[in-house]
Amino acid sequence: MQEILDQFDISMMRKYPDPNAQILVDALAKAYGVSPKQVFVGVGSDDVISMAFMTFFGGNKPILFPDVTYSFYDVWADVYRIPYTQIPLTEDFRIDPKDYARENGGIIFPNPNAPTGVFESLDTIEEIIKENPDSIVIVDEAYIDFGGTSALPLLDKYENLLVVQTFSKSRSMAGMRIGFAIGSEKLIRFMNDVKFSVNSYTMNQVTLLCGAKTLEDDAYFRDTTAKIIATREEAKKRLTELGFTFPDSYSNFIFAKHKTADAGKIFEKLKERRIFVRYWNKSRISQYLRITIGTPEEMERLYSALTEILTELEATA
Ligand code: PMP
Repeated sequence: MQEILDQFDISMMRKYPDPNAQILVDALAKAYGVSPKQVFVGVGSDDVISMAFMTFFGGNKPILFPDVTYSFYDVWADVYRIPYTQIPLTEDFRIDPKDYARENGGIIFPNPNAPTGVFESLDTIEEIIKENPDSIVIVDEAYIDFGGTSALPLLDKYENLLVVQTFSKSRSMAGMRIGFAIGSEKLIRFMNDVKFSVNSYTMNQVTLLCGAKTLEDDAYFRDTTAKIIATREEAKKRLTELGFTFPDSYSNFIFAKHKTADAGKIFEKLKERRIFVRYWNKSRISQYLRITIGTPEEMERLYSALTEILTELEATA
C-alpha cells in the first residue's frame, strides 16, 4: 500500500485520468498472457458487461441467457431495449448447450453461475461458442477464481468469445470498482469505440494504479482464495450435517435448500440475528438460500444460528 501511496501525487486529482487506462490494461495483459489490445477495463464488471451489451447486442433477434442467473442481464436488456429469451436451466440447475443451438442475437451466462455456484466444463462452453459462430458469446467469470477453469484458452480458437472478470470477488476489491474483459483484438476495439463515444474517463487514476499493483502479488491472491475455498469446503460438510442440500459450488457462496424447513422463514430468522444471506421469492428458487462464505468465525456463528433456528422451526411445525 505504501508503494502505491508513494506513486500518488496531487496532480492525479487535478488532471483527467488516462482514458486508455494503460497501466492497468498492460498489467492485466501481462498477468493473463495476452496482448494489451485484447484487454478492456471498466468500473466493475457491471460496467464492462453493460458496455458489451451496448456494443454487441441490440438487433432484432433475442439474446439468450439462463432463467436462473445474474439478475442484471434482463435489466440491461430492458434498458437497452434488447429482446431476450431466458433459457431454463435443467432440473439440477445445469446449462444444456443444445438449448442454445437456436437463432439468437448473442449469448451471456456466468460460469460458475450465480446464484447457484454451478460450474460448467470447458467442453460445454466450447460447444455453445462453436454452435454460434455469428453471435458474441460472453462468459461472465465473476467467480472463476474459486475453483473453476477459465474459458480464456478458448480465445485462441474463437473470435466470438468475450471473457469478463472482476476484482470484486476473489481479489476482495469491490470498493475500487475494477472489471475487465479479454477477447479478440477486434472485439476489444469495438468496445473501446463505444466507450470513447459515451465516457472516455470511466476509471480514476488511483484505481488504475491500485489495480495494476495488486496484480503483482500473485502469492497473496492465491493464498486468500485458497482460504475461502477451504472454508467453503468445510461449509459443504457442516450444511449437509444440518440437513441442507445444494448443487456443488465452485463459487464463494453455496445455494442451499433445507430438507424440511422453509427458506423464507430461515432467511427472516437469520436476519433477526443480523446474519444476512440472499433469498429470492421467485419460481424455481424460492426454497433456496444463497449463503456467502465468510471468515471461519462468521461461519461458526451461522452454523450455531442455523442449529437454533432449525430446532425452533421444527418445534412450531
Ligand atoms: N457478474 C456476476 C455474475 C455477479 O454476481 C456480479 C456481482 N454482483 C457481477 C457480475 C458484477 O460485479 P462487479 O461490478 O462488482 O464487478
